[in-house]
Amino acid sequence: MMKALTYMGPGVISWHSIPKPKILQPTDVIGKVVATTICGSDLHILKGDVPETTAAASKNPEKGLVLGHEAIIEVESVGKDIKKFSPGDICIVSCITSCGSCYYCKKNLQSHCNGNEGTSGWIFGHEIDGTQSEYVRVPFGDTSLFKVPKGVSYDKLLMLCDAMPTSYEIGVLAGGVKQGDSVAIVGLGPVGLSALLSAKTLRPAQIIAIDMDDERLELAKQFGATHTINTGKLTTQALTSEVLQLTSNLSPGREQGVDVAIECVGIPATFELCEDLIASGGSIANVGVHGKSVELKLQNLWIKNCKITTGLVSANTTEELLEKVVDGTLDPSLIITHHFKLDEIEKAYEVFKDAKTTKAMKIVLTP
Ligand SMILES: [Zn+2]
Ligand SMILES: [Zn+2]
Repeated sequence: MMKALTYMGPGVISWHSIPKPKILQPTDVIGKVVATTICGSDLHILKGDVPETTAAASKNPEKGLVLGHEAIIEVESVGKDIKKFSPGDICIVSCITSCGSCYYCKKNLQSHCNGNEGTSGWIFGHEIDGTQSEYVRVPFGDTSLFKVPKGVSYDKLLMLCDAMPTSYEIGVLAGGVKQGDSVAIVGLGPVGLSALLSAKTLRPAQIIAIDMDDERLELAKQFGATHTINTGKLTTQALTSEVLQLTSNLSPGREQGVDVAIECVGIPATFELCEDLIASGGSIANVGVHGKSVELKLQNLWIKNCKITTGLVSANTTEELLEKVVDGTLDPSLIITHHFKLDEIEKAYEVFKDAKTTKAMKIVLTP
């Protein structure tokens, strides 16, 4: 048996004993969880907003479904087809599980993997038992785990499971951030701040950080934002003109506006703000998860030769990001605000849920 945090149905989680996972497929890896964390999507599940997780939990009402899709593990045992890992290895468990051989994995779009045990690449704590437990079974270990060198702090590594690749792939790379660019980041939660850190490694001329919380803006400044703007104190029009003004003197002949606007909130107002901020040739990289339609201002945008991108992380840049963490160009542990013991996870959920008061960004849980 082992202890795990399971989702029992809308509003109900429980830290209790359940059977320890076993190898079910020859491509499985069983790992001891040495660090895990809680994500905003766990809160969506808890609210009952993710029907497939509620369905998976109700299949086994006494046990529920183990939540979590981010962890660092120490490999305990491996299936007979596993070639890359052996007991004792320390690995990043990615939020995306990839079979490595289906149509989408071959297209390098692992987010849509349909060769694994769920309906997309996101299966942990969504459709199968996740990582908020003492042990975890990782399907397709060879193509889903990333071995890490000894001695790198778990706080840095844990950010590579989800927030860092999400913001890098769907924000920074999809938006095409380049040296000398002007970049606006709208929304400074863990993903927005991760976007800031990874964008900075590509040396844009400006990073304009936009949020309504002064403490988050202060963090953004410490992380390397060249300008910060608090939206709470401004009308949309004043906010837009302030950003445009900042981009006035970047290059001779260049019109006002940012080259890349990275949306990390997921509400109409912030997406529509991005539409107003981009210059000709610019991009809006939408990272936020939206629940409502937004107004597409095509009457203004059609002539701008601009690009709008969306997506779910494929985690195919994890190795590249890991190299940057190991060589010191990237330190995502700056985003971590709280540490708890794994068996205090119910308390950690309360702290994470109440982020407005507790100022929680990312929480690390260790055994
Ligand atoms: Zn996550
Ligand atoms: Zn696949």
